[in-house]
This record gives sequence, C-alpha cells and structure tokens, in this order.
Amino acid sequence: ERLGWAVVGLGDFALNQILPAFANSTHSRLAGLVSGNADKARQIAQQYGVAESGIYSYDNFDEISDNDDIDIVYIILPNALHEEFTVRGAQAGKHVLCEKPMAPTVEACQRMIEACRDNDRKLMIAYREQFEPHNLAAIKAIREGMVGDVNLLSVNAGVSLDPEAPSAQWRLNKALAGGGSLYDIGIYALNASRYLLGEEPTQVFARIHSREDDPRFAQVEDNVAFQLIFPNGAVANCTSSYSTPKNNEASVFGTKAWLRMAPLSNYYNHWLIVDDGNQRIEPSIQEISQFAAEMDHLSRCVQDDTAPHASGEEGMQDVRIIRAIYESAATGEMVSIESDYERDPNL
Ligand code: NAD
Repeated sequence: ERLGWAVVGLGDFALNQILPAFANSTHSRLAGLVSGNADKARQIAQQYGVAESGIYSYDNFDEISDNDDIDIVYIILPNALHEEFTVRGAQAGKHVLCEKPMAPTVEACQRMIEACRDNDRKLMIAYREQFEPHNLAAIKAIREGMVGDVNLLSVNAGVSLDPEAPSAQWRLNKALAGGGSLYDIGIYALNASRYLLGEEPTQVFARIHSREDDPRFAQVEDNVAFQLIFPNGAVANCTSSYSTPKNNEASVFGTKAWLRMAPLSNYYNHWLIVDDGNQRIEPSIQEISQFAAEMDHLSRCVQDDTAPHASGEEGMQDVRIIRAIYESAATGEMVSIESDYERDPNL
C-alpha cells in the first residue's frame, strides 16, 4: 500500500528531484501540493495527476487536516521556514519529512521534535545519503572492519553559488538560511563524518573565511574549515565552500585500508573504492533513487509504527555541532559539544 504525500514548497529541489522520484517509490504516492503560486500548483498538479482537492496555499495549509488522502507532508522550503511548517503539519495530524538543515537553531529543532511528539506524529529529516547504496556499503565496510581502525577522515563539500539564481536569494539571506555554505552543504560533510564513524564528535575547531569584496557574502559565510574530534581519537577534517565548482567527497583512512567516495553526496553517479595499498576494490553497486528510498522508509515507518532513521534528534545534533563550529570560528577556541545523543550504530 502507498501512503499519500503532500510536497510543501515547489522550488528547484522539489520540482526537479522529489516530484519525479515518486515514480520510483513503492510505498509513497504524490497526493498533495502546497505552494504560494496557485497557477504553478495547478499546472504541476495536472502534470502529476494530483486532485484539485490536494492543492493548498501556505495560508490554508492547516486545512490539510481534513484531507484523509494525505498522510505525510514533505517540507522543502527555505531553512528558516522548516519549523513553522513542520509544527503546522504535525498539528494538522500529518507525519513530517523535513529537508536539511532541520532549522537554524537548536531551540527550533527542539520545538519541532516536541510538536511531532505531542501530536504523536513521526518526524524524519531528509538525509538522503543515509539511504544511498554506496554510502551504506561504505558504512558496512567500516563497521565490519574492512579498513581497520579509523584515525582520520577528510570530507569536503563545495558548489559555486550563482547569486542570480532564484534559489540563491534565500541562501544568501541569513534570516532565511540560518547561515551560509556550512548550513547548506557543509552539513553533508558533517553528517557523513558522523555516520561513517558511527560516533558523535566531542570537540570542534573551525575557521571561516569570506572575501570582503564578494557581495554574495554580506550576510552569510563562504568558506569553512572545521575539524571534528571523536571519542576514540579519530579526527575528521572537513570543508565547505560556495566558491568552487561542484564537488563532494569523503576519504576514510584506516589502519588496513583507505576508502573513498567521490562523489559522496551527488543526486546520482556515486563512486566508492577501497584500497589496502596492494589491491584496489571498486565494488559494483546499483544506483537507486535515494529520494524514493528515503520517502519509502518513512512511509514504512508510519505503516509499521517504527521509528525512522534520520530522526529529529539526528537533525538537531547536526545543528548543535554547526552552532559549535560558528562559536569556534568566532572565538578561535576549541569548543566542546555537550550532548547525550546516541546514534543508531548500524546506520
Ligand atoms: P528554492 O528556492 O528553489 O525553493 C524554495 C521554495 O520555497 C520556492 O518554491 C519558494 O517560492 C518557496 N518559498 C516559500 N516561502 C518563501 C520565502 N519566504 N522566501 C523564499 N522562498 C519561499 O530552494 P531549494 O533549493 O529547492 O531548497 C529548498 C529546501 O530544500 C532547503 O531547505 C534546502 O536546504 C533543501 N535542499 C535539499 C537538497 C537535498 O539534496 N536534500 C537539495 C536542495 C535543497
């Protein structure tokens, strides 16, 4: 059986990646659209066979509570709007998948978790890479000891942000984005460091640098270098940037072998190798739609009443560490991360 989903926000990512991905899903179907532009919503509804009764605006979104055809809402709005629409969705009786980063502040994340808990709704954060087969194979290889003890990681994420693009307008606005490249794509390096190691960092050290003559960075940061220190002693060196052609990659250096994913977090065409110094293995892994896989995961959690991977707590942990990264960059000091979050070690 397929659960009904409403997509909230019809921007770049929703239109080009998420709506087409319903065709690859097995437990999810598109049943609703929420948009500020009624003409666009009607046109997209026609294209995807969504009933007129499944179309909502941001103003009448709460009326979705009367629509039994919709079980789950997927929030794909600018970061600062995630909280409001997650809370309204949960209050309307819908389960929620919310895009990354979860919200600009830890407090907002806490309110989102509470709203879903109070309304007995599931909350998942859209960490699609946690459902992507190359990333899952890398996690498995590391957990099974294929690379030995991991002491060092290097994880990087960059794009060249075109200030003319419509989707760049809110990204360069601190109130809507929360911050710059760190919130937007550095979060991939941060989250991957955590899921590849299966541990939570206890300390962070960071530097941030934006060119003063670049008008894009009046409000948000460009280049970030951050170092995460893990309880077993492992260190992850991570970077994010809005000023380099698109790239994302992870290298994991273990005592027996090193492992590399490049790209790490593209939409398609992932690549994984493991090299022990003598032999290089390039496992053949079937690409799938990670978007369909993550949506189906939440549909099944709702159907089976189980807790989703990539929970609200998982999203909040990244935001907590992001705040510590800014604090370290501002003070020049190493910052400790206080948290009792324990991740699912098998993920
Ligand atoms: P976008 O600008 O293309 O889309 C945002 C949508 O929100 C637009 O349709 C816009 O009209 C609407 N909107 C509603 N209220 C708005 C307001 N007050 N100001 C500005 N826009 C408003 O952005 P996007 O790239 O689609 O990103 C949307 C969300 O999805 C972000 O949280 C982003 O981090 C996330 N995202 C995730 C991935 C991923 O791979 N998981 C990829 C891209 C974007």
